[in-house]
Formats: sequence, structure tokens, C-alpha cells
Amino acid sequence: MKLTDDIKAIPKAELHVHIEGTVTPDIARLIAKRNGITINPEIFSEDGLSYKWNGFIDLVTRVYQEMARCLKTADDYETIMYDYLCRCAAEGAIYVEPSGYPGQCLVSGIDYKDMVDGMVRGIDRARADTGIESRLTMTFERHRPSGAESDADLILSYTHPYIVGLDIAGGEQEGDLAGFETAYKRVLKDFGRPLGVRAHAAENIGPANGWDAIKRLPLNRMGHGVRCSEDSGLIKELIARNITLEVCPTSNILAVKEYPDFKSHPLRKLYDAGVSISLNSDDPGLFGNSIGQEYQIAHDEFGFTVDELEGITRNAIRASFVEDSVKEKLLATL
Ligand SMILES: [Zn+2]
Repeated sequence: MKLTDDIKAIPKAELHVHIEGTVTPDIARLIAKRNGITINPEIFSEDGLSYKWNGFIDLVTRVYQEMARCLKTADDYETIMYDYLCRCAAEGAIYVEPSGYPGQCLVSGIDYKDMVDGMVRGIDRARADTGIESRLTMTFERHRPSGAESDADLILSYTHPYIVGLDIAGGEQEGDLAGFETAYKRVLKDFGRPLGVRAHAAENIGPANGWDAIKRLPLNRMGHGVRCSEDSGLIKELIARNITLEVCPTSNILAVKEYPDFKSHPLRKLYDAGVSISLNSDDPGLFGNSIGQEYQIAHDEFGFTVDELEGITRNAIRASFVEDSVKEKLLATL
């Protein structure tokens, strides 16, 4: 999708993107070659430009794992971070807050400190070359409750200043956040400085998981949260607590059976009700979307004006977890 000039010109901010999910087929092949790994060619389309998959679960499990197992060194994480941030900057993004999985260290054998240091180098290099600013959040995996405490140990083992938040992602089961409450609270208590709190919730499971996240965690932002739109009491609660929903329209159309198309997606309903929202790509390397495309879609499919979209960027920067001095600087550029 090509961005129109007016959308391209809007400064953008992204709060919900998984760093491994940004890896395009080209970058995956480059890194695999560098590490002497042969990627199963069946994960790529015939022309090699996109991934080939049979439904969302196949994409985020089989295809994702085949790609992500190639990421083995700090250089690999530097490459993918730098590549992604430069692509965002080319579409007008001024701030991106990607998330990393400590659990990925178990899969690909990379040391946690190397993973973080690689991402940090990618951020510094992208800032030097394009001006884009970026910070990181770390993510528990909902489908792996047995790893909650060991992931917490890793996160506490290296508290680099660029790590500003804590998140949980992965396949939602009703009430499954309970298994992570202790690990979340331990990291928040022992990290040595305040972290922002996020949780993917109310994406596939309805409002019950939105309530669950709010009750269990001191939540600042909710990943997706789109199914909160089914409960007017929950909408009021999000507004009262000033919780920002990180909405990912393209991802939801692919993953959430309640939203087969943009027409049925509640982005506009949530925004019009006064809920704080941001726009995000989630796994742009896998889905073939981008932060710029999500702004274009919000304009074309949901009728957001350029002014409203600029307001969404301002809102996202306010809801970001970057330190206040940088936040002020970013807001001043808008
Ligand atoms: Zn996500």
C-alpha cells in the first residue's frame, strides 16, 4: 500500500510492535546466511517477498519460529532494530517502542544481555542516521506460565536504561494472567526504577480479560483491548484510569474472528467514546503492513482526519514510557 502525501507527512508514533515480528523475508534470509542456517523455503511466498501461511495461528507459530530461530547474536538484533526503525522513519515516525521476548533466548540460544545490547545499538544507529527515537519494553508469554519467574529473572538481570516497560503477549485464555501476577509485581518492585505497565488483553477473549488485566495489574496501556468495546462499563473504566489502548487494525482483521473486516472493527467506536488510543502494526514483517499503512487505513477505512491522526500521535507519545525530558522534546516537534 502506497501512502498518500498528506498521510506520509503526519509525524507518527508506535507503541505496539514485536521486534522479531518486524523481520522481513529479506532480512531473515540475510541473517540466516550470516549464521550458516538454512531456512525452510516453504515459509516464503513463491516470489520470496512475503511469508506464506495457512491462517493466523500457522503464521505466529510455525512461520514465526522458523524465522526467529535464526536470530542468534547481538549483531542480529542490531540489524533487525536498525532496519525496522529506518523503515518507520521513512514513513514519518518519530518514536517507536518495540518489545522483546526474554523467552526468545531459550529458543535461539542468545544471551539476554546480547539481545538487549544489540537492540540498543540498533536504536542508537537509527537515531544517528534518521533522528528517530526509541525505547524498549520486555514481554512475558501468556502461553508459557512455567516461564514467568525465569523470564522475570532475566529482565532483572540487566536493567539497561532503554528498557522502560513490561508487557505480556501470546495466546489469550480466559483468566490466564493470574499465573503471571507474582512475576510482574516482582519485576516492578525490584527493577530499580519505575517501569510502564502493559498487557495484551481483550484481543481474542472478550471484556472479561480486559477487566482481569485492570484488576490484577497497575496498567498504563492495554495491547489491543479492542473487545473492551463490548462493555460500556469497561469503556468508562479505561477512560477513568486513563489507560491507552494500543490498537492494531490489520493484525485484528487477521487474528480476531469477531472482526472479519475494517467495517466491523471498533476503532472508531472506541475513539469516539473518548478512549485513549494509539495506532500500531504489531508484527509488520510477518503481516506485510507498516505503521504508515495503519495511519493510512485509519484515514481511508475509518474516516480519521489528518488533524485527528496528528492527535493520535500526540496521544501515543504522552502514553509512551520514554523519560519525560525526551517526551517533551518529541511533543515539541509536533
Ligand atoms: Zn502484540
